[in-house]
Parts: sequence; structure tokens; C-alpha cells
Amino acid sequence: MELRGTNESVVRTLQRIMTSEVPTIAIDIVIVEKNSSSVENLLLADRLTVIPLTGDRASSLYYSTDCPNCKGFKDYCDLCSVEFRLSAKCIAGETLDVTTKDLITSNSAVVPVDFRNATSGGTLIVKLGIGEEVKLKAIARKGIGKVKQKWSPVTTVAYFSLAQVKINEELMETLTLEQKKDWVASCPANMFQIERHTQKVVLSRPEAYHYDDKVTWKAEAMGMPGLVEMCEKKDTFMFKLETTGALEAFQLYINALEILKQELLLEDDDIDYSF
Ligand SMILES: [Zn+2]
Repeated sequence: MELRGTNESVVRTLQRIMTSEVPTIAIDIVIVEKNSSSVENLLLADRLTVIPLTGDRASSLYYSTDCPNCKGFKDYCDLCSVEFRLSAKCIAGETLDVTTKDLITSNSAVVPVDFRNATSGGTLIVKLGIGEEVKLKAIARKGIGKVKQKWSPVTTVAYFSLAQVKINEELMETLTLEQKKDWVASCPANMFQIERHTQKVVLSRPEAYHYDDKVTWKAEAMGMPGLVEMCEKKDTFMFKLETTGALEAFQLYINALEILKQELLLEDDDIDYSF
């Protein structure tokens, strides 16, 4: 994902919003009715709370603290939560794998993210031995990563500047193929390559740019100063973004931009224009 015409402080703010301010939905309360498995209730609850759930409908849920039906953090209702049921018993075979596919949701729009993959067997929650049983209710709520990590939709978010590169084509064409190979190999970030058919040197990995003078030093050492001009693009950034699956990367980006817009409006309102 490429952002143009902006500056680093906006990009850094977007990174923070994506990680800790875009709301998703995660299991927050677990009420165990029966558990004869070897996994303790607390550990079972911990496993459930970190299961990524689809978060596209988070905007249609109230935060539990703002819900008009609920009086406190312990309350929950359809406006601020989604209920999951899990009921499994091993009655045959050596063991039974209970997975996210066994969770039954009260809202078909909010499910474990691996429901999207029909061929996936789901994520293991607990293994039951013969005669063992688990029965529980889990309440999922809307939240943000700033409050608890489990609500963060991000696994990786990083950004980097792109390079502004100008190859002096005329000068480059005076190099032999061996000299071109030698020069291309001098770039520690492997940003350049030689096109097979034309033998032309091209910029192939602008995203790999980091400040380094090695290619210009090499050109000078070859008696070719000015072969390439390279600097950082101050207003263009590339985002590397991986999500938990709660939101697609593009949707996360759009939601983060929306929050950024609201924050900027708020800040604008906060400005005191009196003299
Ligand atoms: Zn409620």
C-alpha cells in the first residue's frame, strides 16, 4: 500500500490508529457450564479470548460502556455483544478435537475468521478424551487494541520511505554488460536488475531503499560519476500491513483513515482562534 503527498507524522499516526484504535470484536466473557477436560477453565477462557473474530460489523455494535441497554461493564445485550455457544462431548474414538468450527454464534456476521475458509478444520480449542465434555457460553464485545491487545486487528504494520531514483540512461548505455552487472551487484538492497532482453538497468525494488551511498561510490570508482542520483522521497511511504484476519488490510486502512479524519476535525475544533 502506497501513501503519496503526505508526511511522516501523518503516517506514524495512521500506524498507531491501525494498531490500537480501529475497533474489532473479541470474546471478553467466558461462562463455563461444564468442563471435564484436562484444560482448566481459566486457560480455556484465555484460548477463546484470543480467537480472531470477523470485525466488519464492529461499527454496528455499541461499546459496552456506551450501550443504552446496559448499566455497567458486567452487563451485555444484543446491541453491544455477540453470544457464542460451545457444547461438545467425546463419546467415541480416542479423542475429540474441539475447534473454532464448533462455536455457534448468535450473529452470523460475527464468526471466527477461519470460518471464511471452508476447507480449514478450524483452530484447536481443546482436545477431549473419551467421556470428557465441555459446555460454555462466550460473550464477544467491541473494543480497541489500546485497551487490550486481543482487539488489535494488526499483526504487522510498518512503513518505509521510497526512493527517488534517476538513472543517467545515456551514461549507463556506455557500460559493458559486465560493468552493469558489477554496478548492480554493488547495491546492498538489490534495488536494480538488468532486463534480460534489452540488457537495460532498471529499478526493480524501490521499496528496498534505505540510505546508502554504495551505488554512487561504485559509479565514481568506475569513472562514471552521475550514473545515478538517489534520494529519499519525503512525501511517499509504503505500508507493510498484515492483519489477524479480523479486518481485511484494505478495510483496516479505510477505517483508520476515517478515525484519523475525525481526530483531525476534533483537533481543529480544539484550536482557540481568539487573540
Ligand atoms: Zn448492551
